[in-house]
Amino acid sequence: MRRKLVVGNWKMNGSRAVNAALLSGITAGLDGAAADCAVCAPAPYLAQCESALAGTPVAWGAQDLSAHAGGAFTGEVSAAMLADFACKYVIVGHSERRAYHAESNELVAKKAVAALEAGLTPIVCVGETLAEREAGRTGAVVSAQLDAVLALLDDAAAARIVLAYEPVWAIGTGKTATPEMAQEVHAQLRAQLKQKNAADAVQILYGGSMKPDNAKELMAQPDIDGGLIGGAALKAADFLAIIHATR
Ligand code: PEP
Repeated sequence: MRRKLVVGNWKMNGSRAVNAALLSGITAGLDGAAADCAVCAPAPYLAQCESALAGTPVAWGAQDLSAHAGGAFTGEVSAAMLADFACKYVIVGHSERRAYHAESNELVAKKAVAALEAGLTPIVCVGETLAEREAGRTGAVVSAQLDAVLALLDDAAAARIVLAYEPVWAIGTGKTATPEMAQEVHAQLRAQLKQKNAADAVQILYGGSMKPDNAKELMAQPDIDGGLIGGAALKAADFLAIIHATR
């Protein structure tokens, strides 16, 4: 039985003061939580996460990493640097990175490998745009995104990733995939993981306007193992309500 996992993606939000209040609000309200949880913070705040969260049930991680191990790559952050701050997770291939930084399926795959080699768990994001959904291409798009990653991994490494299905049209828009729409894609992704014998191990999260009022129904689907949460992860009460919706 896979454990549920709820991860907050703070995106480019926060300050030392705001983060301190958010993190203490989250840790104070976790009693009785049935899910694992984590926050993915902007890189400058990873040290703050480490000092606030070490010894608590909340893990932390980053929102991106370099595919390179080190050297002349101005502005980039390596997997080893994230591991140095005890990150457990790193998001790779978020649709905002794919759209605004032209990240290809192949680059995302290399980033996932870099994360795994440093002992981090990559949260690999896949998802279709509205135009792709309307053209009936959802299955083909997410399958190609996942295939590029699986092509670089052996079975043991594939079993160590977390996957997040995030329909691009649902991110930050208030539009959520219905539980049935999300489950259909999750089931397809689960079947695809069988080629690496990783279908039972990999947690597949749903992301895209998940909120306290829709989280329970989404996470009740058989192939939805938790959530990747943007906007609602910035308020401790909302993030906690989503974590507790897994009970
Ligand atoms: C995200 O950024 O990964 C996300 C799902 O955002 P939101 O919950 O705000 O749609």
